[in-house]
Formats: sequence, structure tokens, C-alpha cells
Amino acid sequence: MTEPRTYTGGCHCGLVRFECTSDLATVTACNCSICTKKGLHLTFLPPSSFTLRAGGDVLREYRFHKKVIGHQFCAECGTEVYANGAMPDGTPIVAVNVSCLDGIDLAEIKMRPHNGRAD
Ligand SMILES: [Zn+2]
Repeated sequence: MTEPRTYTGGCHCGLVRFECTSDLATVTACNCSICTKKGLHLTFLPPSSFTLRAGGDVLREYRFHKKVIGHQFCAECGTEVYANGAMPDGTPIVAVNVSCLDGIDLAEIKMRPHNGRAD
């Protein structure tokens, strides 16, 4: 999976829908507290590669720790779809939950471990 392509995706109940463009070359398996509890596997994209198509009104935001990352989840089904944040240099970034991509099979994705517990 090295060619960028456009994926559609959404939450479990379907209220939240999005499109994103990614090569899925770097999917992070992070061991921080929220990724562990939610089972998140994230790919990090520039905001221009992510478009929310539906469900903006049902999204709820969760912030913790330094409160720099806005975790966006569906108020109906509870699925975390993506998160808003910024790189250390301030560049805005969107972290998409790859489990929300339509037709994705996690077993076929190469994961890069990240020691988020140390952050
Ligand atoms: Zn939902």
C-alpha cells in the first residue's frame, strides 16, 4: 500500500462520514493511554487530505492531558473517527482512525509502533 488513494469511511452507526487521501504507509500503533483503551490505529494527514462529509453536528470532542489533541467521536455510537492536533512545530494535522476506513483489514496494514506512554 504505497500509492495514495482516496478512502471513504465513517463511524459505526453511519452518521459521521468522511473522505481522506492516504497511502497508509505510516499507521501508528501507539501505546498511550487513549490509544490503548480505544484500540486506535492512526494515520496522520494534512487537513487538506481529510474532508468531513456528514455528521459534523453529532461529533463530540474529548481532550485530556495537555488538551492539545481534540478527539472527535460520534455521540450516537461512540466511535472515535479522527482527532485534530498539531505537530511539534505547530503544523495542523488530522489523525484518522484507520479502523473507520471502509473495507479496511487491519491485519493487512503495516503498523509502526510509537511509544506514546513516554510523551
Ligand atoms: Zn456513529
